[in-house]
Amino acid sequence: MTKRKNVAVIGGGVSGLAAAKAFDERGHRVFGFERSHDFGGVWELSRSYPDVQTQSPKDLYRYTDLAMPGDYPEWPKGPQVHAYLHAYAAKHKLARLFQLNTNVVSMDRRQDGLPGWTLELEAAGKTWTQDFDFVAVCTGQFSDKNILTHPGQDAFTAAGGKVMHSSEYTDPALVRDKNIVVLGGSKSATDIVVNAARNGAKSVTLVYREPVWRVPYYVGGINFKRLLYMRAQEQQFNGWGGTPLGKAMFTAFKPLIWANFRGLETLLKLQLKLKKWDMVPDVPIEKDASCSLPIVTPGLFEGFEDGSIKPIRGTYDRYENGEVVLTNGDRVPCDVSILAVGWKLGVPYLAQEFQDKLIEPDGQYRVYRLAVNPDLPDMGFVGFNSSFCTILSAEMIANWLVRYADGKLAKQPSAEEMKKNIDDMLVWRRTERPAAKVYGGLCSAPFHFRHFDELLSDMGAAKVKRSNPIAEQFSYPDADAYGTFLASAPQYSAG
Ligand SMILES: Cc1cc2nc3c(=O)[nH]c(=O)nc-3n(C[C@H](O)[C@H](O)[C@H](O)COP(=O)(O)OP(=O)(O)OC[C@H]3O[C@@H](n4cnc5c(N)ncnc54)[C@H](O)[C@@H]3O)c2cc1C
Repeated sequence: MTKRKNVAVIGGGVSGLAAAKAFDERGHRVFGFERSHDFGGVWELSRSYPDVQTQSPKDLYRYTDLAMPGDYPEWPKGPQVHAYLHAYAAKHKLARLFQLNTNVVSMDRRQDGLPGWTLELEAAGKTWTQDFDFVAVCTGQFSDKNILTHPGQDAFTAAGGKVMHSSEYTDPALVRDKNIVVLGGSKSATDIVVNAARNGAKSVTLVYREPVWRVPYYVGGINFKRLLYMRAQEQQFNGWGGTPLGKAMFTAFKPLIWANFRGLETLLKLQLKLKKWDMVPDVPIEKDASCSLPIVTPGLFEGFEDGSIKPIRGTYDRYENGEVVLTNGDRVPCDVSILAVGWKLGVPYLAQEFQDKLIEPDGQYRVYRLAVNPDLPDMGFVGFNSSFCTILSAEMIANWLVRYADGKLAKQPSAEEMKKNIDDMLVWRRTERPAAKVYGGLCSAPFHFRHFDELLSDMGAAKVKRSNPIAEQFSYPDADAYGTFLASAPQYSAG
């Protein structure tokens, strides 16, 4: 009989909901803690910028047992994703498991000597501690803002200028008749410049360091989900592990693979007129593809074309006399400076001695299957395997994690096996595929199938692929199919 555990789930975003459902379904007592007043994480309305929409098409951004509504567009808007997450929570009655407005302040080993962790919690001005047998960390990669300050900022704001993080740009009225400068080259930066240009800004400037490959929703008229998410495409990237035969095949097909990616680059250069905008990246696209690969915000290149958005390569040096002075000496008039400079990765509430075991000096995470660390027993991560289809990735890993916690994986790894695998993966990221180092190595894209194959195999699923080999090879990960694969893994109940 599997012991029924008291399980803490920290975070009520996509991943926290997946974790709460997976542990609850197996019969564990789930205690969810979300510091915000609402579920949703990055999709929670008060922290989403206007016009935010998914990068993933809707059938790739969903849980296995709940499709997004048919009347949603192919790339749903933020409030639609938020409503979808609420529908999922309602379907599985997850709200009963969560305490909202409750912050996890710290996490340390239990003082009573039992396995598990003690959380220090804070809500409505009160703090208390609570012990748990297992903790699912679901606080994502976008919870702590990266804050940048530049010389002259105090005088700039004292004179009426505004400086904000991209997540604080929630009201487009703010940009009307103002000179807007956005720092950053990610999707949030480009979403904001397009939104500002459409909402009556006097001028909009995008200041970015280096050009990166960006993929439009339609590449040469084809929805990118039919090009970039295929098993056949994934095999063209230098993935981890692999058999000697697989490696020999990869070498044999290298010229074809090279030609394929040069073709894709040519298409992107022509479609987006990258040369005209001096935006051709130096790195080959196949070396760059990872979770940080942005999708082109519709209207971005059109904005460059009609002059409503001015791109400048460089970065901020200082604020001076109502202008941003760039490192190349350019001066850009500025009333509102929006810093789309991302988030600080981490688990700040975890006791330092455990953070040291989790994170290497170069910022790379030591996590087996992107979920657990053998030196940190009785805990695991959900959503740290981010991808181009993160909801599905979170659900897959949540189902893996509950089995891991219960010792119910068909291939339950020993500490030595996990350590060896972690070390091998670190070598792969550091020497063979540097793009996989983004977000501390916590990204499974573009290797969705490879990652899911491993998880399903560990779980002992009887079915791991669609029966139609053509669909399996040339179509994107199908959430319905993954629902049946998960159901084919051995089932059990705790308690
Ligand atoms: C603008 C934007 C668009 C995106 N589009 C896509 C997309 O199209 N496709 C895709 O695959 N991914 C996309 N992503 C990535 C996205 O982060 C994931 O898809 C997913 O939403 C992450 O969910 P999560 O639950 O892991 O983390 P989050 O959504 O960040 O949720 C973490 C939760 O933990 C809570 N929390 C943090 N610390 C504490 C604490 N100490 N105590 C209590 N609660 C805490 C936070 O309040 C938050 O609610 C996008 C991200 C952004 C920002």
